[in-house]
Amino acid sequence: MKKLIVIGAGISGLASGVYAQRSGFDTLILEKAANPGGVSTSWKRKGYTFEGGIHWLIGAKEGLPLHDVWTETGALQANNPVVYKDPIYTLMDGDTTLHLYRDFRRTEAELRSFGWRDRWVLGILRFHVWSFRHFHPVIQDAFGLKVRCPRPFSLWEFVKMLPAVILTPFLMMTSARHYAARFRNPHIRALLHCVVSPNINALSLIYTLSTFNAGDSGYPLGGSLRMAQNMADSFTGLCGEIRYRTPALEIVREGGRLKGVRTAEGLLEADAVVISMDARTAIDRLFAQPLQDRWARKMRKNLRTTQCMFAAFGVKADLSTYPRCMYVTMDPAVEIAGLRFDALQVNNYAWEKDYAPQGCTTLTLILDGQSYPWWKAAKEDGTYQEKKKAVLTLLEERLSSVIPEIKGNVEVTDLATPMTYIRYCDTHEGSYMTEWLPMRPTVTAPIRYRDGIYFTGQRTSFSGGLPPAAMGAWKTIQALCKDFGVEFVRKG
Ligand SMILES: Cc1cc2nc3c(=O)[nH]c(=O)nc-3n(C[C@H](O)[C@H](O)[C@H](O)COP(=O)(O)OP(=O)(O)OC[C@H]3O[C@@H](n4cnc5c(N)ncnc54)[C@H](O)[C@@H]3O)c2cc1C
Repeated sequence: MKKLIVIGAGISGLASGVYAQRSGFDTLILEKAANPGGVSTSWKRKGYTFEGGIHWLIGAKEGLPLHDVWTETGALQANNPVVYKDPIYTLMDGDTTLHLYRDFRRTEAELRSFGWRDRWVLGILRFHVWSFRHFHPVIQDAFGLKVRCPRPFSLWEFVKMLPAVILTPFLMMTSARHYAARFRNPHIRALLHCVVSPNINALSLIYTLSTFNAGDSGYPLGGSLRMAQNMADSFTGLCGEIRYRTPALEIVREGGRLKGVRTAEGLLEADAVVISMDARTAIDRLFAQPLQDRWARKMRKNLRTTQCMFAAFGVKADLSTYPRCMYVTMDPAVEIAGLRFDALQVNNYAWEKDYAPQGCTTLTLILDGQSYPWWKAAKEDGTYQEKKKAVLTLLEERLSSVIPEIKGNVEVTDLATPMTYIRYCDTHEGSYMTEWLPMRPTVTAPIRYRDGIYFTGQRTSFSGGLPPAAMGAWKTIQALCKDFGVEFVRKG
């Protein structure tokens, strides 16, 4: 058996491990943290569960190729059935409430009543969402690779995606913010802003709306941790080994050939290595010298990361009368970590009965934006803890004005900053994705680097998220199998 080391037990590392182990590699996963899942994680505090990863999972719907990957890698099982919340978002602006439903026709009916002057733009939006109704990530077997249970190739699948393919370049050229700005009604604009970050391209906005409309993008019960644990159990069930709290320190090469991976325990020899940790971190730290290949230099120069602050509150009150995902406008805007938020997106887990003690509720907020420099400076000048406390107090105060039950009832709080993501997962600037901006090429790491060294994970795709993490694993392990002349085995 060929010895394979996978660096990182995030979603891409775990999926790689399952496919490699099933294809006959003797696979060891090295993970820096104490748990599987990487940045896709949830955790418990005093009886409250804080979901810090999955908000929607593309490929959750049966029949999609990506769904096969989730089931083959053990991510989706009987213990984490998928639920589909609806409405997905509720805009709350003073007395105005506006919903975004899964069924776009229902959303459209509601938007029409708000912005009759926007009916033409709404018609275009409907056309775009409709054009993407059959669009989904393509998962095909590598050419010339021997595959057990090969994926059937369907020309019809491609033909159905043509309308979306034709529109893609146009949508990639504009940002989600510009797209939303075509609407005159400020509430409709705000509602579209809560779907994806307004800075990224409009393709992501339309594609996301279309996955909702097509009945995909649900939430697997038990969230990130159960899904990651399922994958880890599937991997160890195939006799793979995971070593937690064991960071890879260096990929060792001798005479231009791969020797293995150095950890604090010593050198672990390997025939191949798959790097699933953040490739941007790896190019500077995981080799004897920082990589100077053209793509690596470009990546250093051009990469723009998606960063966030993740705030969580355990509230001693039943908030099930409030919507599941509220987008609450703030007047005046909230200033946090040098960023300005005109609205706060609040996830309400009141419907998840085991996420909080009886009669209590877990609330979480994701505050997207480039806050890394601000928090880094706070770490350096010793004010980090104090600033974290101040942010939580401010958020509690501002949210109390919209959800009065919060006042005086907060039992537990938590705030993860980009520094937290660095501490646990060593992602570049504490990021969790790449920001795919319009008209700006994103540099990705190559799947095959050289002599037995492969990349997978979020930086091998344009944007990031869970689907590219899993699909990256599929492509990388297929490339590995092809290079080693091994049959790729999808399922048992
Ligand atoms: C708050 C939040 C919400 C999100 N919501 C969604 C969502 O709803 N839908 C969606 O699709 N995506 C979502 N994402 C994004 C998604 O979770 C990530 O893009 C994806 O999980 C990245 O997976 P990965 O395996 O590529 O990388 P990572 O998760 O970064 O995995 C890499 C692993 O490598 C480990 N590692 C690092 N250095 C070393 C080392 N030297 N040695 C050993 N191990 C190492 C890390 O600890 C980590 O476990 C969200 C992310 C966040 C933070």
